[in-house]
Amino acid sequence: MKASARAVVIGGGVVGASVLYHLAKIGWTDVLLLEKSELTSGSTWHAAGGMHTFNGEANISRLQKYTIDLYREIEAISGQSCGLHPNGGLMLAATQGELDSLRLICSRARYLGMETEMISLEEARNFNPLIDTRRFIGALWRADGGHCDPSGTTNAYVKAARTLGASVERFTRVLSLAARRDGTWDVVTDKGTVHAEHVVNCAGLWAREVGHMVGIELPVLAMEHHYLITEDLPELSGRAKEIVNTTDYAGEIYVRQERGGALIGTYEPHGVVWSPLRTPDDFSMQLLPEDFERLAPYFEVGFRHFPALGRVGIRKAVNGPFTFAPDGNPLVGPVRGVRNYWVACAVMAGFSQGGGIGLVLSRWMAEGDPGQDIISMDVARFGAFATPKYTAIKVPENYSRRFRLAYPNEELPAARPVRRSPIYERLRAAGAVMGANFALEHALWFAPAGVAPSETPTYRRSEAFPVVRAECQAVRRGVGLYETTNYGKYEVSGRGARAWLDRVFACRLPRPGRLALAPMLNPAGRIVGDLSMACLADDRYMIVGSGFAEEFHLRWFSRAEPPPQVCVRSLASTLTGVSIAGPRSRELLQPLVRIDLSAQAFRLFQVTETAVGFAPAILTRAGFTGELGYELWTTPDYFATLYDDLWEVGRNLGLVHFGGRALSSLRLEKSYGSFNKDFRPDHTPGETGLDRFVDFDKAEFTGRAAVLAERVAGPQRRFIVMEVTDADAEVIGYESIVKDGVAVGYVTSGAYGHCVGKSLAAGYVPTALAREGARFEIDILGEVRSATVRLQPLYDPQGLRLRA
Ligand SMILES: Cc1cc2nc3c(=O)[nH]c(=O)nc-3n(C[C@H](O)[C@H](O)[C@H](O)COP(=O)(O)OP(=O)(O)OC[C@H]3O[C@@H](n4cnc5c(N)ncnc54)[C@H](O)[C@@H]3O)c2cc1C
Repeated sequence: MKASARAVVIGGGVVGASVLYHLAKIGWTDVLLLEKSELTSGSTWHAAGGMHTFNGEANISRLQKYTIDLYREIEAISGQSCGLHPNGGLMLAATQGELDSLRLICSRARYLGMETEMISLEEARNFNPLIDTRRFIGALWRADGGHCDPSGTTNAYVKAARTLGASVERFTRVLSLAARRDGTWDVVTDKGTVHAEHVVNCAGLWAREVGHMVGIELPVLAMEHHYLITEDLPELSGRAKEIVNTTDYAGEIYVRQERGGALIGTYEPHGVVWSPLRTPDDFSMQLLPEDFERLAPYFEVGFRHFPALGRVGIRKAVNGPFTFAPDGNPLVGPVRGVRNYWVACAVMAGFSQGGGIGLVLSRWMAEGDPGQDIISMDVARFGAFATPKYTAIKVPENYSRRFRLAYPNEELPAARPVRRSPIYERLRAAGAVMGANFALEHALWFAPAGVAPSETPTYRRSEAFPVVRAECQAVRRGVGLYETTNYGKYEVSGRGARAWLDRVFACRLPRPGRLALAPMLNPAGRIVGDLSMACLADDRYMIVGSGFAEEFHLRWFSRAEPPPQVCVRSLASTLTGVSIAGPRSRELLQPLVRIDLSAQAFRLFQVTETAVGFAPAILTRAGFTGELGYELWTTPDYFATLYDDLWEVGRNLGLVHFGGRALSSLRLEKSYGSFNKDFRPDHTPGETGLDRFVDFDKAEFTGRAAVLAERVAGPQRRFIVMEVTDADAEVIGYESIVKDGVAVGYVTSGAYGHCVGKSLAAGYVPTALAREGARFEIDILGEVRSATVRLQPLYDPQGLRLRA
């Protein structure tokens, strides 16, 4: 075994094999994969090998397509067959909601360059004669996908990696990891120690244990999963082509051909966690006992929906474990606070996702950046809240929903509430319907008396629509209160804080007493944060950003290596806040403070520390609604009192609560983009319009060269807001924007603009097409609608109300 390597990959399943191949391909040929047993011996060997491009996140879909297309490449390099059956995929809908979901997939697929279409059930039967079409109302066909041989595919990666110079040691168990002072690792194995610059945890079923080796608790857990292989089916004999891999959402069943028979698998509602506390060391190439009694009702649904399957015997049954993160997406990337330790685990669809994960992780390791937005599979989307208890509840919930469609207005109930602000009960009493962001409960909308505080999951407008309209109108006409505790909050302080922030952020830093909008860029000049920065003193700053990105941003800050005298800390649990917005917000606040809030005395983007009623607070004049507004921050012990004080004054002013839904509507009426929806690490300042906050004159900041180059060349595409012909549904995200039959751009977010009376969609189109009044088409749930660009905000284009 080698004594040293640039990177050691722990685990020889399909994910570790892909990471090894991609590291070698990017030029890190001095890489070593360690596998404690035989390759594939964890969850890989018994997988059904299904592969598809479907994912709710467009970037993950794209990486899944990359994975599927890659198999021809590794077959060619390695000479090893992946056993490909590229026969495409069918998705079947039995309800209106499922049908809407398939239509959304179709609308998205055009821009992604994926061949997808809605087909009739008769056509679906041509692709798969086993379907009982009476059970369904619609079908979608996808050209990409099929299935592969798990062992062949893993070996093809490994052989291709070896061809490029990578090494593999089988039957070599990593026992522990010891960090050296310089950030490199001693990888201690049962065959000796390897010194490595980097280690990658691709330990699949043992990812949790390899996390423990460096003192971290990864939110990953294995579930048992069953599939059956039937005896030969007469319906399939003599067919020229294999049946198309079929997903039946209503039945929570997948079916594909396996030789002359069929393979049928199910994701049952009450799944069983495997090895909840510790994965056995000696588990290798093993299956678990079948539990037909438990699974029978669910397979019987399959036999009803695909009746031929019930008429033949079962040749083989498989029950094997594989791992999930709480939201079902992989955990990929570097872990904050553990230098040169990377993870690529919790991969529940290794044959659809393994290649893409290898690609982005290898770029991240070799070039310092994954090269594209992968926030939805970044390990940093989980924070300290993802404790073992949280994971143990969320993973089974996710498993039970593996084949349920995720409605855009749906909030999942498991492990709720976990994090609550001090006014949680007060908001609930006021009718708040809650969502969870980074496990913190926050209000989406407020059910008035007589309206149930719940919502039917739908892709179309729900019962909340008129309620949200009333909230929006009340804010624009009077004053509303929105809790901001779920924002990400940080304090940067100490001598040198200003100089460090000046390098990390692209904006001009605010003077004491001022607040600035503060884009943060990666070295490639792409947006990794759209934050605000309040200068409380020359050496003390409060920074506010998206709550879900707290761990992501903390990791970013620590990567930027603040000097020892600069302290960067999260205020997540130590600062609570509300935003008040609307033309009467000054009247609401003035009686509670001793400072003069008049327009000249306390201007837009001013910040001060002052008492608000009983509460010592940080007060800024800012907001996200486009109205006169203030944000108030105080510590949790004062927060309920601050809230009560505001209500005491507000009652006479018609103060209302508003939630996240209303905010989405209000901000789009003002054409404000939102981080993670509209602004992501795929976008540049020029494309988003955030370039107006970039200080191009600064001598140094991360991403400077790239943004200067973009300023000269001009952005390729632009963020725009469009008004869409009105119907009963808004855009959801990632729908294709079409011009003359060609998909030229894509949607990032949408909402109904209740105060402008228009359905709104935000997205990106090529710069040359981003002109006032330009018309496009967007397929919304199967209906082609006209979308017209509005370069000026539809509401208060001059910003007079904001500055009032
Ligand atoms: C019944 C079933 C059906 C499935 N069907 C599909 C499907 O159709 N399509 C699909 O895409 N996915 C499917 N999957 C999921 C798929 O199997 C996983 O996504 C995939 O195997 C994950 O691969 P991995 O490399 O992350 O993990 P693993 O395959 O578990 O590999 C991890 C490896 O790390 C090694 N290791 C662990 N600890 C150490 C250590 N300390 N030292 C050295 N080596 C170590 C292990 O021995 C193991 O080989 C299925 C899974 C099951 C159970």
